[in-house]
Amino acid sequence: MAYVFGPIASRRLGVSLGVDLVRPKTCPLDCVYCEAGRTTDLTRERSECVPADEVIRELDAVLCKHPKLDFVTFSGSGEPTLNSRIGDVVRFVKSKYPEYPLCLLTNAMLFGDEALIRDIADVDLVVPSLDGSNAEEFLKINRPVAGFDFDRFVDDLTRYTLNTRSRVNLELFIVPGINDSDASIARFVSLIRAMRVDLVQLNTLDRPGVEAFVTPSSPENTHRFIAALSPFVPVEAVGVFRYRAPKPGCSFSATESQRRILELIRRRPATLPDLALALQQPEAEVGKLLDQLFAAGKVGIQKQQRGNFYLPSPEEAKSK
Ligand code: SF4
Repeated sequence: MAYVFGPIASRRLGVSLGVDLVRPKTCPLDCVYCEAGRTTDLTRERSECVPADEVIRELDAVLCKHPKLDFVTFSGSGEPTLNSRIGDVVRFVKSKYPEYPLCLLTNAMLFGDEALIRDIADVDLVVPSLDGSNAEEFLKINRPVAGFDFDRFVDDLTRYTLNTRSRVNLELFIVPGINDSDASIARFVSLIRAMRVDLVQLNTLDRPGVEAFVTPSSPENTHRFIAALSPFVPVEAVGVFRYRAPKPGCSFSATESQRRILELIRRRPATLPDLALALQQPEAEVGKLLDQLFAAGKVGIQKQQRGNFYLPSPEEAKSK
């Protein structure tokens, strides 16, 4: 499948089926921590980046088997709202498979576009990002497309949260040294107090990002944000994958499991426990598959603080 991937499991969303609505890597931002790599197409123009009819066909092929999912999630190789037909995909799932909640991970850069707001009105959970407490921090962390106006961005996001009926979990990525001073935290408090947010999710570096200078926020540092925000909004710190006991008796063949591993790490590097969780298979089994893929020259390994991350080898990356 070209546009539907997973299911993958994460601490914040549980088990979700990913839907990729853009080509790698299309986004109005080029965030220093992005797990999907550098932005190669920095744009805020909406278009049918990938064919929506094909996305719908792939979704239909998966959902008609009634997999157990917590969410169908728009995420992947860039900013999903850039796809001008996201509304058609939302309507398809909501009309044919209403039992599946929809989630949208978004940078909210296009929330000033009323047509887009109508397109995503039926999404159950929207997770917008706010990483800068002012323009200077936003420019340093998120590196937006030319013509960006921070005040307007905040106004659009605030208006959206006040008017939507979707659940809103605001994500704030802590980049130590840039957006974590006492003054920054006070500004975040003031911005978020003006919004209607169900939950603030504090995130920090967990896997390879774009820039080496980005380091994880320590638990003590993250706690400063929790202390400032939690008096008026629920706060949760995320970052590492949720671990669940793998289900015994996986029904995938080894070839299918290897295909799924490559499909997952093409979008985001992952550790062995991440992959075992995503595939719902024991780590020992997934480890064997990774060894085979490594021996075949299809995956590489990158050492990070959280362990070894698997990613496609340069040859495998080129072959796609
Ligand atoms: S908005 Fe998301 S996809 Fe775009 S660069 Fe930032 S982290 Fe990556």
